[in-house]
Amino acid sequence: MPLNLTVSVTRACNSRCRTCGIWCSEPSLLEPGTELTLDEYERLFASIGRGSVYFLNISGGEPTLRDDLAAIIESGARLLEPAHVHLPTNGLDPGRVVDTVGQILAVIEDRDAVLSVKPSIDGIGPVHDRIRGIEGNYDRVMETLERLLELRGRHPGRLEVGCGTVLSRLNLDEAGDVVRMAETLDLDSIIHEIAENREEMGNESWAITPSAAEYARAVRPFAAALRQTIERSDAMGALKAALRLRMIPLTMRWLRTSAGPLRCYAGSTNAHVGPRGRLWACAVQARANRMADLRQMDMDFREAWSGTAASRVRRRIRSGECGCPLANQMYANILLDPLELAGALSLVSRIRKGA
Ligand code: SF4
Ligand code: SF4
Repeated sequence: MPLNLTVSVTRACNSRCRTCGIWCSEPSLLEPGTELTLDEYERLFASIGRGSVYFLNISGGEPTLRDDLAAIIESGARLLEPAHVHLPTNGLDPGRVVDTVGQILAVIEDRDAVLSVKPSIDGIGPVHDRIRGIEGNYDRVMETLERLLELRGRHPGRLEVGCGTVLSRLNLDEAGDVVRMAETLDLDSIIHEIAENREEMGNESWAITPSAAEYARAVRPFAAALRQTIERSDAMGALKAALRLRMIPLTMRWLRTSAGPLRCYAGSTNAHVGPRGRLWACAVQARANRMADLRQMDMDFREAWSGTAASRVRRRIRSGECGCPLANQMYANILLDPLELAGALSLVSRIRKGA
C-alpha cells in the first residue's frame, strides 16, 4: 500500500491559469456524475485500510468547489488514519475556502491528522493576476491567507498554513518579492515547484518550463528561505526543508539532461487517483503510468495495486523510461536514496551549526 495517496477530487476550476490547462478541460470531463462520489471514496479508502497512508494529498482542479469535500476528507481520515492531510487551493473564493477548511477541521477533530492548506501565489499583485488569468485574484488570495491564519490561531497544532509558487517562464523575476511578502505573514511553509508539462494538467505542449540557467537564478530566494527554515524549525520541519533544498540541484540536473534525477518510486510509495477513478502511478504521465480503472474494479484499490497492469507500470518506471522532478514524489525518492538522504541530513547539521 502507498505511503502517499493523492486524490484529485475534481477537474472543475474557477481559475484561468497560464501554466495549467485543467480549467479548459473538455466539457464531458466536467459533467455532473463523472467524478467519484462520496460512496466511491468511502469504498476506495476502506479497501486501502489503516496503517499505510501517511500523507493524504487532496488535489484538483480546485478541490473546495466540491460541496462534499469535508465529508470525503472525513472518510479518508477515519479509514486511512493518515498523519497529514494536505489541501492546495487557488484561494480565489476566500469565504468558500475558509468555510470548507473550518468544516474539515470540525470533522477530523477526533483524529490525530494535521491539516495543511496551501494557497498558490505566483507573483505580487497584477503579476499573479496575469499568470492566474483573473483580475483581483491576488487580493482574494491574500484575504484567504489572512483568514486562514486567523483560523490557525483557533486550532493550534492542527492547522498549518503555507503558500506555494509555480516557478515558470512567466515569473522568473518574482521569487524575491513573493518570499519577502510570505515572510511577513508568519506562514508555516513557503514552497515552490517548477512548472512542468503534466498529462493531468493538459499542458503538455505549453512552453512554461524555465531553462536550467533561468531556474538557477529564479530559485535563489526560495533556497534562502529553506535555509532559514532549517535553522529555525524543529527536527521534522528542518528535515522537510532539507529535502526541499536537495530537490533544487536535482531539478537543475533534470533541466540540463531531461533524465530522471533519481530512481523514481511512483507506483510504489505514491499513488494518484484521478477524478473519475483512474489509478495512476503519477499524474505527469497519467496515460503511460495508468495502473487501473478503479470503477471497473468496484473501487477495490488493493486488487488494482497488486494487479498485473500495476506491476507492468512499476517495471516501466524502474527501467527509467521517464524522469521528472515532481515534488510530491521526490520526497520519497530522496528518502529512499541513501546518498541523497545522507546529503539532506548533512545539510541540516551544517546549516544548524552555521557552517
Ligand atoms: S493550477 Fe490549480 S488553480 Fe490553476 S487552473 Fe490548474 S487546477 Fe486550477
Ligand atoms: S519520473 Fe516523473 S513521470 Fe516518471 S513515474 Fe516518476 S513522477 Fe512519474
